[in-house]
Amino acid sequence: MSEKVFKSLNEQVGKEIFSSYLYLSMATYFDSIDLQGFARWMKIQAKEELGHAMKIYEFLYERSSRVELPALEKPKNTWNNPLEAFEAALEHEKLITKSINTIFELAKEEKDYATEQFLSWFIKEQVEEEAQTDLIVRKLQKLQDSPTGLYMLDRELGSRE
Ligand code: MG
Repeated sequence: MSEKVFKSLNEQVGKEIFSSYLYLSMATYFDSIDLQGFARWMKIQAKEELGHAMKIYEFLYERSSRVELPALEKPKNTWNNPLEAFEAALEHEKLITKSINTIFELAKEEKDYATEQFLSWFIKEQVEEEAQTDLIVRKLQKLQDSPTGLYMLDRELGSRE
C-alpha cells in the first residue's frame, strides 16, 4: 500500500471515530431534553460509526499497516432544537462521503485495486446514511414545532434496532 493511501485511510479511522463521538454527543443532547427515542437512534448510530472505524483498522492490519490514532476534537454538545442537530448530522455525513470519495480517487490513481474494492462498501453505506438522515431532517421540517409530532417521531426513532 502506498504511503498516501495509507495516510488517508489512517485519517479516515479518526474521522469515523469522531463521527461516533459526535453522534454520542448528540445522544447526550437528546437525552438532556428527554427525547429518548432520538437519543437511542444516535447511540445506535455512534456504534455503527465505531464499527466503520474498526473495518478500516482491520483492513489496514491485513495489509500490514499499523493504525496511528489521531487526537480527537471535542464535539459540539448543544443545538437549538432537534432539527438543527439532525441538519448538523446530515452535513457531517456529507463531509464523510466526500472524504471517502477522495480516498477512492486516490486508490484509483495509485492502482490500488484492493483499497478501491474495500471502499466501494463505504460508498454504498454513505448513500444509505445520507438518505436516512435526510429523511429525518425532512420529517422534522414538516412537523415544525408540533409537540405531538415530535413525540410521535421520538417513538418511531426509538424503535430503531
Ligand atoms: Mg461512517
